Amino acid sequence: MRFIALALGALFLFGSIASAKDKDSRPYQGPIIDVHLHAYPADGNGPAPNAVCPGVAANLEYDPQTPWPAKMGALMTDPPCDDPILGPATDEEVRDETIAIMKKYNIKGVLSGPAARIADWQAAAPGLFIAGRELSLKRDDVSAAEIEAEFENGAFEVLAEVTNQYRGFLADDPAFDAYWAVAAEHDIPVGLHLGIGPPGAPMLYPDFRVQTPLRIEAILNRHQTLRVYLMHAGFPFADDL
Ligand SMILES: [Zn+2]
Repeated sequence: MRFIALALGALFLFGSIASAKDKDSRPYQGPIIDVHLHAYPADGNGPAPNAVCPGVAANLEYDPQTPWPAKMGALMTDPPCDDPILGPATDEEVRDETIAIMKKYNIKGVLSGPAARIADWQAAAPGLFIAGRELSLKRDDVSAAEIEAEFENGAFEVLAEVTNQYRGFLADDPAFDAYWAVAAEHDIPVGLHLGIGPPGAPMLYPDFRVQTPLRIEAILNRHQTLRVYLMHAGFPFADDL
């Protein structure tokens, strides 16, 4: 259930991207680096295949008497439109359809998700995926020293996606200081989730906190060689960004 709204958001974004010019008319033909790619299971959002009605997020009618996760789930299991977009039915389809579209558009991706699934995707398409290491304080019981050891052992190349805000930790929270220090020392790129969350975030994650890009300022001042990319483009805080 935790990925429902993330996937919804991704689909809405994808809709606008897909309507852009086709591949052959684009002036840029070089590789695209997708720095926000997840290896998640087909049922990560609920029973597969998930269904999404284009534009549904623009008109979410919601009665708080119904639990939000149930409302979200029903949008997919009982989509309120005649021609919903259907997601992949199996984990293999998620992987293989992702690989196919990446090859079509010359995309390489920083992939996060369970380590075994990342390894599986890498084996299925050598050279296409850069291993990420997702991290969320309080959800993941892993110290900064353990992250450092994983990196030194070659387990990952990018620390992403960092989703601490889902559990109330913003970028400059002292609880994450040691992790920033490890990333800076080893020149590990960090992909940080910021901005707002999925629709109904506080009902899915009671500790969720909205995060402005300004929250990263103190960290960048402290670690001036640190490489960070801000996921979701800082939306909706363009001025802060
Ligand atoms: Zn993400």
